Amino acid sequence: RESAKKMPYYKGLERFQLLDKMGDGAFSNVYKAVELATGKRVAVKVVRKYELTSSQAGDKHLNPNFKKKPRVTERANILKEVQIMQGINHPSIVKLISFSESPEHYFLVLELMEGGELFHQIVKLTYFSEALSRHVIVQVAQGIRYLHEERGVVHRDIKPENLLFDRVPIIPSKHPIQRQYDEEKEDEGEFTPGVGGGGIGRVKIADFGLSKVVWNEETMTPCGTVGYTAPEIVKDERYSKSVDMWALGCVLYTLLCGFPPFYDESINVLTEKVARGHYTFLSPWWDDISASAKDLITHLLCVDPAERYTIDEFLTHPWIKERSGPPPPPT
Ligand code: ADP
Ligand code: MG
Repeated sequence: RESAKKMPYYKGLERFQLLDKMGDGAFSNVYKAVELATGKRVAVKVVRKYELTSSQAGDKHLNPNFKKKPRVTERANILKEVQIMQGINHPSIVKLISFSESPEHYFLVLELMEGGELFHQIVKLTYFSEALSRHVIVQVAQGIRYLHEERGVVHRDIKPENLLFDRVPIIPSKHPIQRQYDEEKEDEGEFTPGVGGGGIGRVKIADFGLSKVVWNEETMTPCGTVGYTAPEIVKDERYSKSVDMWALGCVLYTLLCGFPPFYDESINVLTEKVARGHYTFLSPWWDDISASAKDLITHLLCVDPAERYTIDEFLTHPWIKERSGPPPPPT
């Protein structure tokens, strides 16, 4: 069934059979694939080396010059993404299995996340119960803690589209039922992946395309030449981890109510709302959500990065510590 689908051919990717398209962006396509030699299922992120302008893209077969416009920063960016991912080993982060390139493409072979985007699950379910939200956000936070504290890496693009389930989560689709389900499953310990075939498995952080190494943990200084770094850079680096904490707050807010804290049709108005940190716990959606959850969000969505919770403060907040099934398992 899967192999019957028509998949594109990429020169340089012959050791894989592409099965399904899992995601596409402006410059990358992500496929579910199988490594022919081993039968191992993986995800392959294919990144084009050359930019296609919209006019060129249309007549790509007629115009022999369609790929004449190199994306100057792309190689450095991709290599940075690859380099950062190569140094990373954590159960809450999608693993990079291998990297290769052809004259026209970069190929990132990744751990396959069968369950797809958290984004899709939010759309499907409307919103998550507090217990389920906690279960998801703790896994994400553990990944961020590892990045910030053990790798000196800031992800910089934490959002529901970049948070992936390792397998299709089994969650009933109507929220009142889901609440009831949560409470029952919580008692049965079924949040644990694999137990009783239910549960939601693991959530992992993907897409290191915008990530950056910022901090040398030993010297507590920015990476690179220290003595000549300007104060605004030092300050910048000092607070750069806080961008992930803001994003984590946005994800948690969205999980709990089903819509993001900042939204407007007009990009200008939206930008202004974000700049002022202007959001509300809108009634009636937030009426039944605990004061503790709101308190946590308040400490993440604060405009001053110096006041914003760090990842360790996040992980020790009472709402996170509340019992809701066993903690995610260590693999
Ligand atoms: P982009 O830089 O284009 O956003 P991503 O790495 O975020 O690239 O991949 C785009 C989309 O492809 C993701 O939002 C997700 O839907 C899917 N995807 C990415 N990596 C995987 C993976 N390892 N397993 C399954 N799907 C993936
Ligand atoms: Mg992405």
